[in-house]
Formats: sequence, C-alpha cells, structure tokens
Amino acid sequence: MQAVVQDREIPDPGPGEALVKIAYSSFCGSDLSLFRGVWHGFSYPVVPGHEWSGEVVAAGSPDDREWVGRRVVGDLTCGCGHCPACAGGEQVLCDDLRELGFTRDGSCAEYMTIPIRNLFALPEHVPMRAASQVEPLAVALHALSAVDLRAGERVAILGAGGIGLTLMQAAKALGAEVTVVSEPVAERREIAAELGAAAVSDAGDGALAGLLEARPELVPDVVLEASGYPVAVREALEAVRPGGRVCLVGYRVGRTAEMAPSVATIKALTIRGVLGPGGRFADAIDMIADGLPIVPLLTHEFPLRDAEKALQIALERSDGNVRSVFRMS
Ligand SMILES: [Zn+2]
Ligand SMILES: [Zn+2]
Repeated sequence: MQAVVQDREIPDPGPGEALVKIAYSSFCGSDLSLFRGVWHGFSYPVVPGHEWSGEVVAAGSPDDREWVGRRVVGDLTCGCGHCPACAGGEQVLCDDLRELGFTRDGSCAEYMTIPIRNLFALPEHVPMRAASQVEPLAVALHALSAVDLRAGERVAILGAGGIGLTLMQAAKALGAEVTVVSEPVAERREIAAELGAAAVSDAGDGALAGLLEARPELVPDVVLEASGYPVAVREALEAVRPGGRVCLVGYRVGRTAEMAPSVATIKALTIRGVLGPGGRFADAIDMIADGLPIVPLLTHEFPLRDAEKALQIALERSDGNVRSVFRMS
C-alpha cells in the first residue's frame, strides 16, 4: 500500500452527522494492518484514523445544532442500528458494519464527518491530547469486562505496544496486579517496568514459561494477549493458571501457528475474543478525567505532513515508539 497526504474539500455532514475539526489523531497496530492490506474489513482509498479528539464545527441537521462547539471523541463503529447484533450492543457483528478509518474516512485529516449518535462530549478539563486515547482505553475496558477482571487478581500481558500498555494501565486502575509483561522490544519492556510491571520477559523461545517456572508467584489468573501473534496465544494458554481466563485482544489476519488445544481443556480455561471498544467510551472518559496516566504512552508527536516518517517509525518499532499521535491544529 501507499500512504499520501493530500488536499481535499472539507466534507459536508449529512443528516444526523456532525463535522468535526480534529485536534489529535493517534494510530495503532490496526492502522498498520490497514497499511499492509491485511485487515478484516477495509475499502481503499480511505482516510485512516479512529483514535482521535476534536471539536464539532457543524451539524447536518438543525436539531443537532446544540453539538456545535462541543469538544468530543467518538466511536468508530457505525452499525445499521436495528439488527439483532446492533440492538444487543454488538455493533461490530452487524452485517452492515462500517468503521471510521477503515471503510469510511477517519480522523487522520483536519476534518471528518461522523454520525452524531457516535459522539461523546468531553468534560472541560480533559486535555485534547489525552482525550485522543479514549478509544484505545475503551477497547481495553471492553476486554477487561469480557474476562471479568477483579481487583487483586494477577494479570500477565503479552505484547507491550500501544494496546498492551493501555490494558496494563486499565488493569492497574481496576486494582489488579500486573505480574508480568512479555515483549520482544527491549525499550518497550523498559517502559512496562517503569509503569509498574512486577516482572518483564522477552517473547518467544520459552522465555515466559521459564520465568513463570522460576517465579511461580507471578503465574497469572488472567492473560491479556495483545500482540496478535498466534504463537503468543499458545504462550498465553500455557502461562495462565489452571481454571484461569485468557482474553485475545490483538490479532493478525491470516497468521497461523501450531498449538495443542488440549492445554485449554486440561486446564479448564476460559478463552474470550474481543473486538473494538464495545461502547465503553463514557467509562474511558471518566478514567482519563480522573487522571489515568495514559499520556506517557504517546511517545511520538508529528504534524500530518510528516506522516511518512511517522509510519516508518511505527512499522520499525524504532526509537522507543509505543504510540504516535498526529497534531492536526
Ligand atoms: Zn486502534
Ligand atoms: Zn446492525
């Protein structure tokens, strides 16, 4: 794929939509998958970007004028709104699903249109830069609810990229103890340790299994798999305690690995996959408003004209990169 920055007309908000002036837009592994052309749903060309903050500058319907001037974040998932999946709050399973930044133009632009019903207003004191992280935090909260994480439980996180470290901050905020973070990039392991992981491990080659054998007090009740590498799923099943829970948050379309499913049966594990933010925006806004340390994960900031450099650093995972954010205005 090729990424280009181009001048375009400011889009017109349709009925029920808002025009948002974007303040910050960060990008994650999903955007890199989109760039590589290996994503579960996309249509090119498309403006990427689904993690953002901004201000409503126009509304498509006169009834929605009260939104103009509000500082907002929003949900990327645009379901049909009336099928059983949408009615049950599982918009990501809608047959008619469109996603901002994947199948509909997203937030890596100065202006974006979005359905008003996808918007969430921000409290006055939440800075726009931190607010751009509401969406990934909502993804993390959705995952932690899916495995019913409780205070005092021990958690392992596989993959210390943007979503892994966001899961870590959210798990700690809920009172869980992050006993180990496994990650191949040394700089990211350092960040995980600084943010309070009791131990860190290299990924692959039995490093995690070896660590847990040597230090059984680290064995987790819950493993959050955030790398998306199939081999890490195998590690997750092996690492978790018997009767424990595993949540598959990361994924890489088309990748496979050999594994022994009997591990899950013999240990009577619960395995859960989650996709998207699950509508957890209000909770994520509250946590960021309460001062959850999410901004340290924004290691790099760029103007949009430096998109190529930003993309390169993210693809190489170089320069201590966890998350990059574009400053739009
Ligand atoms: Zn994302
Ligand atoms: Zn639907």
